[in-house]
Amino acid sequence: MFKKILIANRGEIALRVLQACRELGVRTVAVHSTADADSLHVVYADEDVCIGPPPSSESYLNISSLISAAEITGADAVHPGYGFLAENAHFAEVLDDCGITWIGPKPSSIRLMGDKAKARQMAVEAGVPVLAGTSAPLSSLEEAVEVAERVGYPVILKASAGGGGRGMRIVTQESMLEAQFRTARQEAEKAFGDGAIYLEKYLAEPRHIEIQVFGDRYGKRIHLGERECSIQRRHQKLVEEAPSPALEPELRRAMGEAAVRLADVAEYENAGTVEFLLDQDGKFYFMEMNTRIQVEHPVTELVSGVDLVKLQIRVAAGEALGLESLEKPRGHAIECRINAEDPVSFRPSPGKLVTFHVPGGPGVRLDTHAYEDYVIPPFYDSLVAKLVTYGEDRREAIARMERALDFFVVEGIHTSIDLHKRIVRDPRFRAGQLSTRFMERLLDAK
Ligand code: ADP
Repeated sequence: MFKKILIANRGEIALRVLQACRELGVRTVAVHSTADADSLHVVYADEDVCIGPPPSSESYLNISSLISAAEITGADAVHPGYGFLAENAHFAEVLDDCGITWIGPKPSSIRLMGDKAKARQMAVEAGVPVLAGTSAPLSSLEEAVEVAERVGYPVILKASAGGGGRGMRIVTQESMLEAQFRTARQEAEKAFGDGAIYLEKYLAEPRHIEIQVFGDRYGKRIHLGERECSIQRRHQKLVEEAPSPALEPELRRAMGEAAVRLADVAEYENAGTVEFLLDQDGKFYFMEMNTRIQVEHPVTELVSGVDLVKLQIRVAAGEALGLESLEKPRGHAIECRINAEDPVSFRPSPGKLVTFHVPGGPGVRLDTHAYEDYVIPPFYDSLVAKLVTYGEDRREAIARMERALDFFVVEGIHTSIDLHKRIVRDPRFRAGQLSTRFMERLLDAK
């Protein structure tokens, strides 16, 4: 096992990794920008190193500062969390050159799955269904017109290097294609430094369902069931749950097996997530694979009984998985992402948490780096806390979520707590009638 892990992240996920290290008896090094000196991950770490000024480009994304911090403190491994450098193959390689273990998949897997057009091709090779479209970046507008004609409108243009819900354009008719094709390319170039785009059929009312996979270095690969993440705003997840109310055992098995097949073809190691869209006829299609721990991993932890972050560390240290695929999730878990944001404009709402009274009690888990009097800096992601509830069944998990949201009192900033109350009280939500259009409908119904 490692002796000392440097956590190359901030916020709730840095604290989550720290908790896992503490339970494993591994010492921790927190890194932080000057804006994060008061964050809990810094307070609880065995050692901490300031790696730069507030902008992430000069701190959390600064590879040389992170390597220096690891070398100065004698860390023998780095956990990247999610976001920042978590899907940066170059960082993983530099660590390897320095003799420091990267807690994550091999750089080649990160690179492969980071190119969504290539990942699609690999899914085809693995016999995993994909939506009709292109399996290589589009070379010209003419090609886009031709493919769109073949698959039928509406279609979606996506950046090969895309992520975080950015760089996607929906095209409903041919007359719009030329303009959207150009903007999508420009946007992709600007946001990701890579203008490559591909095209696929756009599904009108799908569910987003993803499978947690895990591999070890001895070639064993398993899945730990699904998470439903259909409740999204601007393609960003707001509420996630496990299991999905839409999956019967047979479909769960089929999706799980497809995800493991892809992981096998990619010779995947450590934690990963294979994302699918499920259409109204119960057919599923590969969307992309994320090569890191996900924000929504706690719901899987609760229904599988597996501590995914500890497992990541153990597998990176060379332990065998020692687990089989999860055939039957136990109970039900729901996660609400509590963001510091304005309820109307959805703009970030940083500032001081004058009151921060957190819920507890049976079946409630709260992952947060925040506390009363903590000041949320304006420089980073607006996620303040992940409120997760567990119940014997979906009904109990929802009742606990409703109660926990009611007992969560935050003053001093705006949060998404009230929006979550609306979601969990909505009759369609309670009936499990979900799709990626759910939020659009809820917000339009005001
Ligand atoms: P990102 O990597 O930016 O998160 P994804 O490819 O994972 O992008 O897609 C994010 C979301 O966009 C999905 O959860 C879904 O809501 C929507 N989406 C993506 N592709 C399609 C599609 N072909 N049809 C319908 N919705 C889609």
